Amino acid sequence: MNLARRMESFAESATMEVAGRIAQLNAQGKNVISFAAGEPDFDTPDFIKEAAIKAIRDGLNKYTPVAGNDAIKTAIIEFTKKTLGVEYQKNEVIASLGAKHSLYNISQALFDEWDEVIIFSPYWVSYPNQVLLAGAKPVFVNCPAANGFNPDIEDLKAKITSATKAIIINSPCNPTGAVFSAETIRKIAEIAVNDDVYLISDEIYDAIVYEGARPLSPVTLGDDVKRRTVLVNGFSKTFSMTGWRMGYALGPAPLVAAMTKLQGQSTSNPVTPMQFASVAALKDLSFLAPRVEEFRKRRDAMVAAFNALEGVACVNPAGAFYAFPDFSGWIGKSIDGEAIKDSVHLTNLLIDKAGVGPVPGVAFGAENFLRFSYALSMAQIEEGIQRLRAFAAKLS
Ligand code: PMP
Ligand code: GLU
Repeated sequence: MNLARRMESFAESATMEVAGRIAQLNAQGKNVISFAAGEPDFDTPDFIKEAAIKAIRDGLNKYTPVAGNDAIKTAIIEFTKKTLGVEYQKNEVIASLGAKHSLYNISQALFDEWDEVIIFSPYWVSYPNQVLLAGAKPVFVNCPAANGFNPDIEDLKAKITSATKAIIINSPCNPTGAVFSAETIRKIAEIAVNDDVYLISDEIYDAIVYEGARPLSPVTLGDDVKRRTVLVNGFSKTFSMTGWRMGYALGPAPLVAAMTKLQGQSTSNPVTPMQFASVAALKDLSFLAPRVEEFRKRRDAMVAAFNALEGVACVNPAGAFYAFPDFSGWIGKSIDGEAIKDSVHLTNLLIDKAGVGPVPGVAFGAENFLRFSYALSMAQIEEGIQRLRAFAAKLS
């Protein structure tokens, strides 16, 4: 098969690949506890399901305008005003088939081959690949674990060049769970303004935060920052709607128009009944607090368990539902006579020998780390921890 050359410019989604592989093993009768899935285990709240069913029954099953109908645009604008106190117009909003789709549209609409795009590392797997797919160059800025996975601002300053087109921010962060400090966000925004760089702020985990951690959105920092920022959010994580494929972006009208033009030649509008269900979702977040509290309990159990394992260190994540422990102390050790080489090898050994399935850190730019999603029941987490301990006891 003679595929297009661009297919070699980027990698398969590692999170999707590992989660799929574990699901397949379990379908074959294996017993692997998956810590790989980046989606809440909670179901979509009933009131959202009912709104979707009603829309379907009411015959709201036709195409809508490409960037979403009036109702969803209005709901997103009102929601953003309520949560962030920031106003947008209808030509500054686009609803897409997931936040990933919005991000894809942004990278296609914004990046040329000669552009550099700053990505904070560890990073979500799709950022560099979407940048590469646009033909542009990802440039990584380190977020050291010792700094709570907040970026090294000096490193950021050093990496900005005349070719820098944008900086991608993801706070709370996948895979680290870090919430960037307000000071960090202010400094990044200042750099963006001074160096005439766009900001892409992926805030998809903004509602899943612990102990009062408040992620600061750059769009709240005044017009100078807002007019060079595109804010991305979605329904997958907050509303447990991963399979419904609804996300959105808010930003400068010319960028939104370009994204709409692209969407009009690819997917057209997001699924119509899901637009109506999403309008209902944005009106009521009362179901969320007990879920976040449940995530917090699981996080506490996981982080304590990791830090009690010899050779493992885990920063306490302030948001999202991922823990990102450093397993450096296990690399080079042996299990059943086999020396552990790296995070991919360790992941495969954990899947095969312990029945525990994380995602290798190298997929997120952090070799020797592993990502564990804690979007699974406490019983499964406890069983997974037991299995990890049993694996650790066999290391030599
Ligand atoms: N951004 C981040 C950081 C994510 O973890 C995800 C999860 N898939 C997305 C964007 C995309 O989410 P979705 O396309 O399901 O809205
Ligand atoms: N964002 C989730 C994750 O990181 C879902 C998979 C994906 O979209 O990459 O696991």
